[in-house]
Amino acid sequence: MKMYRRNSKTLAPIIARCYRIPLYAIGFVTSLDYSNCKKEFIMANVNDYATGKVVSDLKLALYILKFVRTPLIGPFIGKQILKGIRKYEPKLANMDKVLKLIRNSKKCAVGERVCRVLDKNSEFTEGVFLDELADAMVKSGKAEYVKKEEAINTLKKYPKNPLIISKVEGKYVDLCRTSPSTTCIYWNMQRCGLKCLNT
Ligand code: SF4
Repeated sequence: MKMYRRNSKTLAPIIARCYRIPLYAIGFVTSLDYSNCKKEFIMANVNDYATGKVVSDLKLALYILKFVRTPLIGPFIGKQILKGIRKYEPKLANMDKVLKLIRNSKKCAVGERVCRVLDKNSEFTEGVFLDELADAMVKSGKAEYVKKEEAINTLKKYPKNPLIISKVEGKYVDLCRTSPSTTCIYWNMQRCGLKCLNT
């Protein structure tokens, strides 16, 4: 894989052809600009939640995850996806943990879990967004401001759905009642052997 990295610009089109992976998807995991993919990938910042970029990145990440068991390129793809996800420091959380985060926040908003737009027929669950992320989600019409108690009650509505908290711009502001069998990138990664969830 060292060789691949050194010559990635020239090798990427060959790999794309051999494995029938679109070039933009290769660009996505290698941070090479073959389309409108930016250098960073997967859930980048507050603004990306508002513009929907986060959803297109998730879609691409779920797609590229299918190649994680492919001989030769699979381990590289896995490593790159893990690298992209690392900055979110996703954690499985319990109600005590999220209560603390909500109580220490300045603002809360509630909205449909972000990745559900990728499969509108999937189970409906919601998430709580805090502070700057709450503002961005409300401004883009994806969530509504709520009082702290209401945010807590929203998360209590789905006791069977694991809670995952993710950092956005360095703070745990995305608190999600996940749906493990659907479009959750974290649970899909775990199923592929890419351990990304800490407790
Ligand atoms: S279910 Fe998973 S991927 Fe989807 S919004 Fe929640 S934490 Fe993010």
